[in-house]
Amino acid sequence: MRVWALPLALLALALCVTYSVARHQQTTTPVAPIRPALVNPEALAKRLASMQAGWPRSRNFDCAKLKCVALTFDDGPGEYTAPLLDLLHKRDVRATFFVIGQMVAADKDGRLTRRIVAEGHEIGNHSWSHPALATLSREEIERQLKRTDDLVEKLTGVRMRVMRPPYGSTDDRVVTELHREGLAQILWNVDTLDWLNRVPALVAKRAGAAKPGSIVLLHDIHRSTVEAVPAMLDTLEKKGYTFVTVSELYGRTPAPGRTYTER
Ligand SMILES: [Zn+2]
Repeated sequence: MRVWALPLALLALALCVTYSVARHQQTTTPVAPIRPALVNPEALAKRLASMQAGWPRSRNFDCAKLKCVALTFDDGPGEYTAPLLDLLHKRDVRATFFVIGQMVAADKDGRLTRRIVAEGHEIGNHSWSHPALATLSREEIERQLKRTDDLVEKLTGVRMRVMRPPYGSTDDRVVTELHREGLAQILWNVDTLDWLNRVPALVAKRAGAAKPGSIVLLHDIHRSTVEAVPAMLDTLEKKGYTFVTVSELYGRTPAPGRTYTER
């Protein structure tokens, strides 16, 4: 046997083993959904930035004719956001997430924040630290909005277009700042009170009372809310509802400085 033959034989053996292990894994491991956000964040940010002109991309639902409902989740991203995203992904449902800047900053490597955008949901501003904006000075309101806008843009490449004021606390000064920052004010007409009653069946029932064009207020920082989602989707689906993002509900990006509570 020549000197080079042994390493060559070992290499061939190693390749065989690798191939058979890979084959074995292929047949026994269930296929996981592809999550580019977890694979290469930098590439995703670039891709999202290039799509920004069309973001949030509308799937062209005509909510003037369809029964549409916009589910909105506030105060995250938090520890229940990932299971919620899994649920929505499995059911092919899109929603809107109003994120708190401090929570985005605490989201390791922006993984959840990027996932929200990468999986087709709309992302909106819910201030930096969740104060009642109407009690703040003009400069403080501006800082609360801009800091969150800038961080989300840095992580995802996307500039947010919609905003929800914490506690619904708003006034003319807040609206003026929203207009300046290029944000529409999104309120709601269905309150599930999911922060008060941590009972999944009750949360699902209250969300089920949505009317065509409703915007439903939910919070993805509560386990009970995420647990309520399957029943909520079942109830609304049986009634013929299509789940849309806020921008899809209106068929276009809501206008800066304008207030929306339902379609
Ligand atoms: Zn909130």
